[in-house]
Amino acid sequence: MAETYPIGTIHLVGAGPGDPDLLTVRAARLVSQARVIVHDGLVDPAILAMARPDARLVSVAKARARHTMPQDAINDLLVREALAGNDVVRLKGGDPFVFGRGGEEMEAAQAAGVKVEVVPGISAANGAAAAAQIALTHREDASVVSFVAGQCKGLSEQNWAGLAGKGRTLVIYMGVSTAAQISEKLMDDGLAPDAPLAVIENACRADMRVLRAPLAGLADLVSREAVKSPALIIIGEVTARGDAALTQLALEAAQ
Ligand code: SAH
Repeated sequence: MAETYPIGTIHLVGAGPGDPDLLTVRAARLVSQARVIVHDGLVDPAILAMARPDARLVSVAKARARHTMPQDAINDLLVREALAGNDVVRLKGGDPFVFGRGGEEMEAAQAAGVKVEVVPGISAANGAAAAAQIALTHREDASVVSFVAGQCKGLSEQNWAGLAGKGRTLVIYMGVSTAAQISEKLMDDGLAPDAPLAVIENACRADMRVLRAPLAGLADLVSREAVKSPALIIIGEVTARGDAALTQLALEAAQ
C-alpha cells in the first residue's frame, strides 16, 4: 500500500546582501533547521555554513550566473520536493520579492496547492546604502527612491524618465554590464552629465568597494576599476553628501 506523506511547505527566504549578521532571526532559524535548502549563487558561503551537517543543499546557479537553472525547472524542483513531503527553504540573495523571482515561485507553489511562507530579507539597496553610509532618502535631497533592473526589459522597455534627478534617488540593480547604455539612457532623458553617483560592489562583504563618479563617467569608472557583479549603481544627490574620505574610513574600520 502506498504511504501518504503530508505536503511540505516552501519557505521563500531572503538571505540579505551577504554578511550572515544581516539575516533576520527567522531566516537564521530556518536555515539552521532546514533539511533541504535550495539556494542561488548570490547566497554567501558563510550563510550556507549555518546549515545542519545533514542538510541537503541544492544550488540552482553554477559558478556563473549565466548558467542558472531555468526558472521553470526551479519551480518544478521546489514543488516536487514539497509534494514529496519535504519542507524546503528556498534561499535567495537580498529580498525574495525584489528582482528575486520570488513571485514566480510563489505562484507555482500556489498553483500546485503547496503552502508558501515568505521571509523578507535586506535587499542589496538597503544593505549597500547602510554599508556605504549613503542615505537613500534625505530631507534635503531626496524624497523618492526607485529600484530598477538595468538589464533586459528593465533597460530596453522601461521608461525611466522622472526616476532620477532633483529630489530623487535611483538604485539600479544588475547594471554593471550595461553601464554605458544606462548613462546614455539617463542623459537622453535629460539628466545632467555631472549628476553624482556611487557604484557599490560586493556590499556587506569583506571585499566591498564604493566608487564615485559623475553620470557621464560611469562607463569609464566601471571599466577602469573592473567592477564586477554583484554591484549596485546609486544615482542622486544623496551620493554626494557627507565626506567620502570619512565613508572610506568607516568602511576600513568595519573590516
Ligand atoms: N533579490 C536581490 C536582488 C537579486 S538581483 C536583492 O533583493 O538584493 C541581483 C543583483 O542584486 C546584482 O546584480 C546586484 O545588482 C544586486 N546585488 C545583490 N547583492 C549585492 C551585493 N552584496 N552588493 C551589491 N549589489 C548586490
